[in-house]
Amino acid sequence: MTTKSKADSSLSLASDYRPLELEREIRKFWEKNRIREKLELREKDSKGCLGYVEGPPTLNGIPHIGHSRGRVMKDIRYRWKTMQGFYMPFWAGWDCQGLPVELEVEKLLGVKNKRELLERVGEERFIEECKKVILKYHGEWVEADRRLGVFINQKKAYWTYLDEYIEREWKYLKRAWEQNLLEEGYYVVAYCPGCQTSLSSAEVGYEGSYKEVEDPSLYFKFKVASSEKEYFLVWTTMPFTIITDTMLAVQPDAEYVKVKVGDEIWIMVRQRVEPVMQELAIEEYEITDAILGRKLEGTKYDYPLKDIVPKQAELETKHELVHTVIGEDFVDVDTATGVVHLAPGNGEEDFWAAQKRKVPIFAPFDDEVKFTKDAGVFNGIFARDADYRVVEELRNRNAVVSVKKVVHEYPTCWRSHHKLVWLARKEYFLRTDKINSKVLEAAEKIECYFEEPKNRFLAFLKEGKPWCISRERVWGTPLPIWTCEKCGHKRLVASKKELIETALEEVPEDFELHKPWVDRVTFKCEKCGGVMYREDYVLDTWHNSGASPYARFTDEDYEKFVPTDFLTEGIDQTRGWANSLLIEYVILTRKPEAPYRAFLFQGLTQDAKGRKMSKSLGNIVETNKLLEKNSADLCRFYMMRKCSPIDFMNFDMQELNRRSYQVLSTLYHLSRFFLQNAEFDQFQPERYRFLGNKILWDRTLVTLQPADMWLLSKLQETIEECTLKLESCDFNVAMAVLENFVIETLSRLYVPMIRKELWTDEPETYERRQTIYAMLHYALKTVTMLFNPVTPYLSEALYQKVYKKLDAKLPASVNFECWPEPDGKMRDKSLEEEFEVLFKSVSLVYAARQQAKLKRRWPLSKVIVIAPEKMSNALKRYEPLFLELTNVKAAEYVAEVPDYVGGENWVSASEGEVYMFVSGQRDEKLLGEGLMRDLARRVQALRKDLGYVPTDVVDAVHIAELNKENMGLLESYRGEMAELVRTKKVYLHGSRSELDADWHEAKLDGKLIYLHIH
Ligand SMILES: [Zn+2]
Ligand SMILES: [Zn+2]
Repeated sequence: MTTKSKADSSLSLASDYRPLELEREIRKFWEKNRIREKLELREKDSKGCLGYVEGPPTLNGIPHIGHSRGRVMKDIRYRWKTMQGFYMPFWAGWDCQGLPVELEVEKLLGVKNKRELLERVGEERFIEECKKVILKYHGEWVEADRRLGVFINQKKAYWTYLDEYIEREWKYLKRAWEQNLLEEGYYVVAYCPGCQTSLSSAEVGYEGSYKEVEDPSLYFKFKVASSEKEYFLVWTTMPFTIITDTMLAVQPDAEYVKVKVGDEIWIMVRQRVEPVMQELAIEEYEITDAILGRKLEGTKYDYPLKDIVPKQAELETKHELVHTVIGEDFVDVDTATGVVHLAPGNGEEDFWAAQKRKVPIFAPFDDEVKFTKDAGVFNGIFARDADYRVVEELRNRNAVVSVKKVVHEYPTCWRSHHKLVWLARKEYFLRTDKINSKVLEAAEKIECYFEEPKNRFLAFLKEGKPWCISRERVWGTPLPIWTCEKCGHKRLVASKKELIETALEEVPEDFELHKPWVDRVTFKCEKCGGVMYREDYVLDTWHNSGASPYARFTDEDYEKFVPTDFLTEGIDQTRGWANSLLIEYVILTRKPEAPYRAFLFQGLTQDAKGRKMSKSLGNIVETNKLLEKNSADLCRFYMMRKCSPIDFMNFDMQELNRRSYQVLSTLYHLSRFFLQNAEFDQFQPERYRFLGNKILWDRTLVTLQPADMWLLSKLQETIEECTLKLESCDFNVAMAVLENFVIETLSRLYVPMIRKELWTDEPETYERRQTIYAMLHYALKTVTMLFNPVTPYLSEALYQKVYKKLDAKLPASVNFECWPEPDGKMRDKSLEEEFEVLFKSVSLVYAARQQAKLKRRWPLSKVIVIAPEKMSNALKRYEPLFLELTNVKAAEYVAEVPDYVGGENWVSASEGEVYMFVSGQRDEKLLGEGLMRDLARRVQALRKDLGYVPTDVVDAVHIAELNKENMGLLESYRGEMAELVRTKKVYLHGSRSELDADWHEAKLDGKLIYLHIH
């Protein structure tokens, strides 16, 4: 506002809230004074420690606003709990390996798949490139944390690719190995032909992995071997699996029928006859016979592709059930025909059905999911590309009934979006199914804050499928299992030392626990003396991060910090990190315990229109770019205030700068208002102390006014509610509580009640003014601390520039303050209720004024109140406040409308049994006085702004560009005003140009006027 205040030292508050400048300044302050580092040094004085382990972001991309939302929640918890006196190892961590990073590097190197990668680039260079990529993204993440004000310790970060981490991760596998929970076996796994690796069942259900795809919808028939015209009618959307078909399955207890269509008899379940015939548009058909499903078991059928897939003929000689009907309960009789063809090489249930009957598994695929020569004419064709070729071959053999297209939801790879294929492969598994009851028991004990995510988490865990942890990739934690090439004996080596000491050949110096170096290590078999080679797998990247509670700490820290107190990550982590942490910890400890006491699952963040943020839509909000031009505090407050942490949040830039700005800016300006007045009167915060409903000044007791007591009571409520809501992770509600205190309680209600008392600088009101400063000091400083977890920059700035300026003995940073605690003795609920009556009455008077177009700053002579006794009494008790807030000279309380009230001079407003009447007549004398007081207040504020002390008497006050009417009203009050604002004379000017001076703008009824003091 004035040139003088701008030139002030860094300790002063600029007249406008300019968060970007302020945040830059505070960031420097933190870094220069090592505030974050000092906060960590408080461990020894803490009242206890809260374990924490960082959910490591994968370093394969740039941090965006969705990540930032989660990081802010972590930082809120950290700053808040630290202020409560706890110590927390808030140390960073980075997920560095696995498919996401490999794919990023493949893209950079321009290779299409793994084979090309290995041929053209080689493993060693590839691994160097992976390391380069994670370092590049690491820089982006650290910068985003810095801008966002996240107080995480970057120096103590863990990196999942480092040898020491890998070694400790291997400990988990060793424990699993010892408990026979780590097994090799053939299983049907979801396999991505693009990434050329299998996926865990958790990854298959990953957020957004089901996509609408188009597939063939094929009805086909297999002829009953012993009959010339009987066929089984079957349906599939994956014709390629007919190549690996080995059995048909029916539901043993369901009723099957023979349906005569033309010259043929089709066998299918009874309840599906009508819908299927309708779908096939067959009008003439006849049911000729009924058979129980189990009677069909053992029926042989003619597999039609034997001539082009000779291996199928060979299979028939190996097991009598090949190409035979079996009975299985999983057969669903409510879809398709109730006859299911089984391809054990391509389906999980099919696989188990074959396994338990010892029927051979036929899975003729290579790593790119192309058929091998065992698939006869299909040799070299990619599985899904074989679909229509199979249909053609079936058609040539009179086996096709109908082929159409169907659009359905089908799982795709969460990384590369290829359609997944189910394949029987040799993999390594954690047999989590064997410990499922322990895992569930552990999960039940976890605090999840909200019902829905907990249910979702438990439902997923209940599936209890074995966890396929092997990946046929390069950049990852190697599976530490070696197998003897002669006798098949296996050995698990879980330490680098053991590896080096027992290796057959000397291990080179640049050795690290990665492919290809670890592959070069061989051992001598203890059983037969043969050579043992490492199983060529790396681990599922989810296993890496799931090992963090043990792998990221030393043994000593692990004891101290695990189980951790509180973790939070996205809702998609029910299948990810929350799951892998839990399972690995149960394996490690053998106990039904989780490594975390509480887990807050966050909803995902979408764009303003509610669309998922994606590269293809170009709507990703990158954190660093966002924070170049936007305030971190505003983003933080906005994201927490907008919705519950579990809700999907639509991030809207427009909203960001509206309400959130208003809230923070109001806190800023209230603090500035307090500081200016307090400094003007040389307020010293260390001199006051609250004592019940009084305030103690050195040795003088001063009684508080009702408005003060009300403020104290509301403040206790605010502290209590805010803390409770932080505890229950209702961050949005905690923010609403703070917002309400600043905007409503302080700015809209308390300050108007006391503002007038600060206008004067008379010695006789000095004590009262000091009391008000104490009130504002206590309330604003408290709320500044409550805001610190969410708006750390603003809180620190206010702390330094207001509170520390007034009291140099305060701690060096707001972060070293104690979290406020509510004082029950200051809470007065009946007073709060009475004040509710008061405020309601005030708003009724405003409503009445509005009808008569009477501006609020025009004083009125009288208000007539009709209200129930209890309410009237409350108003009478606080009448000075009532009159002050309504800007009315007197109140009259009556039981009925008086006779003289009526006609067009009176207006009223009512609610329930309460009526307020005011006279709509303008009173020139009162108007003049009101205008004078209004202007006097602005002049006083300007005096303080310009740094005049109370005793200064200025030469002149000039007021310019009031309208004619206002100039007339003010004329006779110039003398009174001069006395009020301590000036020798008040001058009125029609135009600013009449005087060449340093004019200051002010607004009156929405129009600009100008003030000048000298
Ligand atoms: Zn993929
Ligand atoms: Zn051996």
